Amino acid sequence: MQRKDFIKLTSSFTLFSAMQDIQAFGQELTDFKSTPIMPVVFIGHGNPMNAILDNTFSRTWKSLGKQLPQPKAILCISAHWLTKGSFVTTNAHPKTIHDFAGFPDELFRQQYPATGASDFANQTIRAIKEPQIHGTEEWGLDHGTWSVLLPMYPMANIPVYQLSIDFYKPLQYHFDLGKQLQFLRSKGVLIVASGNVVHNLQKIKWEGGEYDWAHRFDEFVKNQIDSHQYNELINYQKLGSIASLAHPSNDHYLPLLYTLGLSDKNDSHQFFNAHFDLGSVSMRSVIFSPDTYHF
Ligand code: ZN
Repeated sequence: MQRKDFIKLTSSFTLFSAMQDIQAFGQELTDFKSTPIMPVVFIGHGNPMNAILDNTFSRTWKSLGKQLPQPKAILCISAHWLTKGSFVTTNAHPKTIHDFAGFPDELFRQQYPATGASDFANQTIRAIKEPQIHGTEEWGLDHGTWSVLLPMYPMANIPVYQLSIDFYKPLQYHFDLGKQLQFLRSKGVLIVASGNVVHNLQKIKWEGGEYDWAHRFDEFVKNQIDSHQYNELINYQKLGSIASLAHPSNDHYLPLLYTLGLSDKNDSHQFFNAHFDLGSVSMRSVIFSPDTYHF
């Protein structure tokens, strides 16, 4: 409820209903009271099988989930929800979306039954005036979200909502929108952006071992983050062929730009899972936080 709505209501309602409104308004303030600054994390999700395999990637996600401060809610920005316009999910019970093909039945049987976080989603819609964020119940939790949350928070006991990626906007848009989401970090919301620093599925090598161009692009991203050259990362396409090989389509890169926008001068950063999978997928992940984690 907006303050102006509250004033409007109390002037016309009975005293009893006004008292109820005061309680509701107070409850809203309590729900969104400030917390210590939450970390923001970019996770390379890679192969959906990482959700159920016990490997170096999933073990790190498990460890991270245990170390992070307990969030009130999780906002995921997944490479697998591309839209025209920016949307957040407002479902009370978001469905688990199995948005892949050709994987074992066991993966299709996985469910991530976290409740939604419609209160935080609505707060996000209200707080950001431009661009307008729209609420929707026509999405749930795609595998960019649940494949990392399943190992991180196997109990699925933290409310989750997603923000879509407007695939029609320039790169700067995503960095700038990330900046506008910073307020959520002091409201107890853990923001998880899920993509990959290098992602070229046409060049997969089942025997592993990365390509030279993949290694060079991965190093470029690392070096620019180390030196806070975020403009270089927003304008990564000027690298030319290395950039287009690393990202024939940049859906898996864009979540990183939100993370950079969400980072703050008081954060330090740590890389983890800085390995290649299948030759052309970098699992390099990065957490921005005032605190230190052990990987
Ligand atoms: Zn993916």
